[in-house]
Amino acid sequence: MKTEIIKVDTAVQDWDKQLDYAAQVLSSGGLVAFPTETVYGLGANALDQTAVEGIYRAKGRPSDNPLIVHIANTDSVKELTDSIPFVTTVLMEAFWPGPLTLVMPKSEKVPDIITAGLDTVAIRMPSHPIAAALIKKSGVPVAAPSANSSGRPSPTLVKHVIEDLKGKVDVIIDGGISNVGVESTVLDITVTPPMILRPGGVTLEQLRSVLGAVCWDPESVDMYTGTSSDASLAPPRSPGMKYKHYSPNAALLLLQGDPERVAAEISKRAELYHREGTSIGILNTDETASFYEPSLHTYCKIISLGSRENPETLASNLFRCLRDFDEKAVEMIMAEAPDENGIGQAVMNRLLKAAGGNIIKL
Ligand code: AMP
Ligand code: MG
Repeated sequence: MKTEIIKVDTAVQDWDKQLDYAAQVLSSGGLVAFPTETVYGLGANALDQTAVEGIYRAKGRPSDNPLIVHIANTDSVKELTDSIPFVTTVLMEAFWPGPLTLVMPKSEKVPDIITAGLDTVAIRMPSHPIAAALIKKSGVPVAAPSANSSGRPSPTLVKHVIEDLKGKVDVIIDGGISNVGVESTVLDITVTPPMILRPGGVTLEQLRSVLGAVCWDPESVDMYTGTSSDASLAPPRSPGMKYKHYSPNAALLLLQGDPERVAAEISKRAELYHREGTSIGILNTDETASFYEPSLHTYCKIISLGSRENPETLASNLFRCLRDFDEKAVEMIMAEAPDENGIGQAVMNRLLKAAGGNIIKL
């Protein structure tokens, strides 16, 4: 398949005209990758079963992992849902457009392929100007998972999308960097209190400040298999959570604890693994950089994820850093676990899954 790559510059006048072709491709059943504020998405007309099948094929995505439907106007919620839970309005006002996905009862109109047979549908209104304009112009709700090959780190730059999907989709829109860097928070509002199914760009603290009670229990859901220790939660409510995800080619080991001890442990292991002939990557932070001996830099690829004091930077850089290690042909990455507050929760969730649960607690 020939893939058209279209660069869109929102600084020029009438920039949205640059989206006319892509919008037409979407509404006529094609596949278009586009930037959102979280990560790049791979879109198709959500009401066209054949178009949506193309998403699963291009990504190699398991068919029991449902898709998020993206809209440009809150009115679209009405055609996608049967009944609108009463917390919907307050959440839409507080967080839309933005990185919050709401799981609601689905309407007849939503094909089963979108929801993997569930009786709920996940809906989000993105804030990225290109995503919003593209969806509006196409005139249809747009199903869009992340625009990567299934299992790989999500794309935050157009070059990541090109690496994974060139030749497999009709159009790739180049619209710069996806700033948030981790996917949306998925919130089930069919239950009381609402329950976070996946941590993401909107934090637990932000949700609680608007709703009061919100359930989030990383302990009761096994984060990388999705199997729950509580039988009442099985099968997994968010089917996508059970798959290996976000994985660089390198093996990933996560180390958690006092930052100075973690750095010492990583340094010790780096020397050992290096002597065994393994090429090592270290994912540290600005604040911990000085804990690593300069000599380590001669044989390890060391990348800072960002600043612990500004956890938004950790989220923003995460997937790009994982792909950067692959470019350097690193075989084993050791990563410092971030503090789990604010968006750090989402960063920790993605790192744990990328590591396949491989964590050492010091
Ligand atoms: P992705 O678009 O690749 O970021 O993944 C979408 C996420 O939303 C996956 O974890 C899905 O399991 C989840 N999701 C989509 N639809 C539903 C739904 N109806 N109920 C629960 N989770 C959903
Ligand atoms: Mg994804």
